[in-house]
Amino acid sequence: MLRRIILKLRLIWKLVEERIKSAIRNIPDFPKPGIQFKDITPLFLDPILVNDMAEKVATFYASKNADCILGIESRGFLLGPLVAQKLGIPFVMVRKKGKLPAKTISYTYDLEYGSDTIEMHEGAIKPGSKVIIHDDLLATGGTAAAAAELVKLAGAETLGFSFIIDLTFLNGTERLSAYADSHSLVQF
Ligand code: AMP
Repeated sequence: MLRRIILKLRLIWKLVEERIKSAIRNIPDFPKPGIQFKDITPLFLDPILVNDMAEKVATFYASKNADCILGIESRGFLLGPLVAQKLGIPFVMVRKKGKLPAKTISYTYDLEYGSDTIEMHEGAIKPGSKVIIHDDLLATGGTAAAAAELVKLAGAETLGFSFIIDLTFLNGTERLSAYADSHSLVQF
């Protein structure tokens, strides 16, 4: 009986994966030539799929005792709060420099050309807490690694990384393995 329930659940999750993959729109050469941009906006036109995605991520993390979910601006703000609500834990925003109104802690990281700075409100995560870092897509892992550094600066610990999409050919999970394991709903 239990085996049949598990098999049925696996089948349901597999179908969710297929629905996600078929809803994601590939936009060639956006925002610049050579980039295959994964457009996730069609996913959010389907409220049942959105709920299933949040449920799948929440189920994965349910037994891991995370203290909060940290979402990366801006597409990390779409699914992240829904997962946090399902797990009954706070959602914390990580934003680009200058966007957060109160006192912040920040981390600057290198890009291919130049650098970028991300910020989080001081006191938003408690020292010693276990954090899930969430974004829409994992490419090289640079953005998520910077968020993990911000978590360290706050005296907290990255419990895991959560993405809707993993572009596996860019080996982002390998780069992030220095901090924690990564979980993604679909892989390309
Ligand atoms: P990275 O830091 O290289 O892992 O890049 C991840 C960040 O860039 C995420 O916030 C994504 O939203 C965005 N990103 C990178 N590549 C793509 C892509 N091909 N399609 C959509 N978003 C992307």
